[in-house]
Amino acid sequence: MSIAGQLRRCPPDLSSHSVAARLRFDPDEISAAANDFGGVVHSPPAAVFFPSSPADIAALVRLSHASPHPFPIAPRGHGHSVRGQAQASGGIVVQMSSLEGGFVDSGGEQLWIDVLRETLRRGMSPRSWTDYLHLTVGGTLSNGGVGGQAFRHGPQIANVLEMEVITGKGETVTCSERRRPELFFSVLGGVGQFGIITRARIAIDEAPKMVRWMRLMYTEFRGMTRDQEKLITMEASPESGRRRPDYVEGSVMMGHAMRSNWRSSFFSENDLRMIGELAAGNGGAIYCLEASFYYGYGHETAMAPRLEKLLEELSFVPGFSFTNDVSYFKFLNRVHDGEKRLRALGLWDLPHPWLNLFVPRSRITDFDAGVFRGIMKHSKFMGPILVYPTNRTKKDLEKLEDQNGEILKFCDREGIECKQYLPHYTRRDDWAKHFGRKWERFVQMKSMFDPKAILSPGQRIFNGPK
Ligand code: FAD
Repeated sequence: MSIAGQLRRCPPDLSSHSVAARLRFDPDEISAAANDFGGVVHSPPAAVFFPSSPADIAALVRLSHASPHPFPIAPRGHGHSVRGQAQASGGIVVQMSSLEGGFVDSGGEQLWIDVLRETLRRGMSPRSWTDYLHLTVGGTLSNGGVGGQAFRHGPQIANVLEMEVITGKGETVTCSERRRPELFFSVLGGVGQFGIITRARIAIDEAPKMVRWMRLMYTEFRGMTRDQEKLITMEASPESGRRRPDYVEGSVMMGHAMRSNWRSSFFSENDLRMIGELAAGNGGAIYCLEASFYYGYGHETAMAPRLEKLLEELSFVPGFSFTNDVSYFKFLNRVHDGEKRLRALGLWDLPHPWLNLFVPRSRITDFDAGVFRGIMKHSKFMGPILVYPTNRTKKDLEKLEDQNGEILKFCDREGIECKQYLPHYTRRDDWAKHFGRKWERFVQMKSMFDPKAILSPGQRIFNGPK
């Protein structure tokens, strides 16, 4: 199709505007922007926008905002949403990766792995991380950015000092806790509804060189969560050699899926065999507590911390503690090793209808009994709770969707008040319920910063332009 013909397919007003030069219509770009990591929702935009500066994005948003026919705009970070949240059906997807930013004043489009590389050159590092670093700064700050360091430093959104944001009116605003706080706090965790993050100033600390990385196995869920709680609340005691961990997570390991998940590269073949046997003798599932201790700062010689004392206080299955010493970079980039393995097996690009839930501490045992040992007990569709790539067919996808639905219904029925993280709802009522008493404020901020509901329509919260 000719360029003129392609521009005619564009939303009204756009074809004659200077931003048109940055639009692409080729089928490959359209189809890439109509897909995401989830592989479940596919909404083609009319065009994909490749900005060279935040000013280009502001011009695009102003154009939509000022038009009698506004069009939806979705910034796309690295497209690692799972339900079309970075898509804009019939509108414009802004490919944030085409911006070039700086550090650690980091561009919203930067991948966290690049932020890490850049800051490590100066011996520094952000403090709070997601498990996987091939996600953009703007993408995770729009959600929360939760990982094993959050118990010490809060999620990533709690580590931002300042941002530059383009609102839904096309205004470029620098905001922080003190300067335009209402915009700052709306955008952080605001699922892309209030503005496009083009720069974020992120708090950093001195980086360690090495990490002592430990995994402990439990046959009882409560045993693991009790030890997790102990680890995240304990005080360091230099006299007794007791150290607070820098990172704590946990997962459920299903015996049959042990080798096909990204976390298994930690273990040797022999470890995997032992763990598999333990799981088989425990109804197919066991629990894994993961904790890490950073060491080797500045000119200090990298001496691995001794953990024997600490291990004595924990209640894992005797003989089932595993430790590796790795570089800080390798530790933070650990999922990428798993990704490479899964890609080689053709398992990375399959649909991922993930369900992420925050479960209240008081009901975690009921959740375990009903979900891990109930609904999922015989399911061949489940891996470690943090991640599991699914099978190939649509039928299998439907089964996973059904299983997610069953888990949510179970929580509803049992009165377990879960909160979805990276939520996916199709009805406004469900969004209102999700935000609870903050919903009214959310709506108020939307009308203040994006009154025409142009931004991130793939979240399906507000009815914007079609
Ligand atoms: P996209 O999918 O491109 O966009 C997500 C949303 O943010 C969309 O609504 C989009 O319009 C909006 N958006 C994108 N860029 C901007 C911007 N610059 N300004 C404003 N809005 C923007 N999350 C965790 O918290 N912890 C984890 O450990 C974790 N691990 C993950 C591992 C994998 C393998 C995957 C696939 C996801 C993981 N996530 C995790 C979820 C991840 O944080 C979110 O999916 C995040 O949104 C992905 O970032 P992205 O750059 O790919 O965003």
